Amino acid sequence: MSDPRPPGPASRPAALAACVAAARLIGADPELALFGGGNTSVKVAAPGCTVLWVKGSGTDLAAAGEGDYAPLDLAAVRALLDVPDLDNRRMRERLRDCACAVDAPPPSIETLLHAMLPHPHVVHTHAAPVLALCNTVDGAAHVAAALGAQVLVVPYRHSGADLAAACRAAWLAAADAAPRGMVLMHHGLVTWGESAADACAATRALCARADAYLDRRGARRPPASDLADTALTASGCALVEALRAQAGAIAGQPLRAAVRSSRFLRAFAARPDVAGITAEGPATPGHALFTGRMPQVGRDCAAYAAAYRAYLGPGATGTGAPRVILDPDLGVLGLGSDMPSAARAATVFAHDAVVMARASALGGYRGAGDAWLRLAELDYGGASPAAIASAARLAAAAA
Ligand SMILES: [Zn+2]
Repeated sequence: MSDPRPPGPASRPAALAACVAAARLIGADPELALFGGGNTSVKVAAPGCTVLWVKGSGTDLAAAGEGDYAPLDLAAVRALLDVPDLDNRRMRERLRDCACAVDAPPPSIETLLHAMLPHPHVVHTHAAPVLALCNTVDGAAHVAAALGAQVLVVPYRHSGADLAAACRAAWLAAADAAPRGMVLMHHGLVTWGESAADACAATRALCARADAYLDRRGARRPPASDLADTALTASGCALVEALRAQAGAIAGQPLRAAVRSSRFLRAFAARPDVAGITAEGPATPGHALFTGRMPQVGRDCAAYAAAYRAYLGPGATGTGAPRVILDPDLGVLGLGSDMPSAARAATVFAHDAVVMARASALGGYRGAGDAWLRLAELDYGGASPAAIASAARLAAAAA
């Protein structure tokens, strides 16, 4: 847009307040979004154009404020949906030209998806019960059986331009239906409405249906008493220190450690099939940013790091040091260069472990697949453009 509107609170519409309030409600529920995941938006008529207000990239929904939302010229954003072979690097550049304010934050990577839908309010979450349905061997069949015609099912695509294109194809193919949302396979849920409350209600209703379906098939969420964190023993503390030192030597810097040690997580770490389950990757590929593709199972950090570097291949950043270690005596050990990153790793994996356990009980946990997971990890992890482009070509060929 060539005529930027003045930035600042005076130009923010009332509907944005409702959109932000919805974001904070959703962000307060870890079953719906964690640490910058998920996003909300609202479309508002303004003089000369309709403005799409969409959450800024990486902003935590729970703490979002109106200043964290980017105002964009909706028509200009929608025009990007017709640009052939648009990759995410060019998409981000072109989105900068759509901004209606000079100080707008970089918009969410899912901006084109929000723009594509006609509804005023759009909510995107990584809803745990939906992830437990779609991360299964028969994921699409379980989603259809649980949620039926209330949702469109979109095959997994990397976040950004490709995902928006897949969602548009699903939307256009279902022109005569009246769905309440879209399930993004191996990724999450999108809902919409005339108001923010409508869009949130659709999210809650679909999650409740997914939960009930899982419960009926014995894939229950563990009881709160099994999920409660418990204190480590003295030998557990010594084990944490030994693993932290071992991983720090590989990382080339001191690491901080955070432990989530509940009855459920210790039992999860002790499952005989835990290595196979967790090798499928996180419940939504974006979580790899916090946990890595897969946790270390066992106590040999050097072997894990060597295998991890080989998996990521040339162009990747990092040493391969584990960010999450599973151990039956501990549960989940998160590691990071500072305490917040260690705590995020442990918390995100503890969340995903419940999804993995429920999906396993529903016939088998199945992640997005090697090519997509590697692309997500390289892209979100700041790998070289050449490495990302190569991973994207491999993923597209495997789709
Ligand atoms: Zn997402």
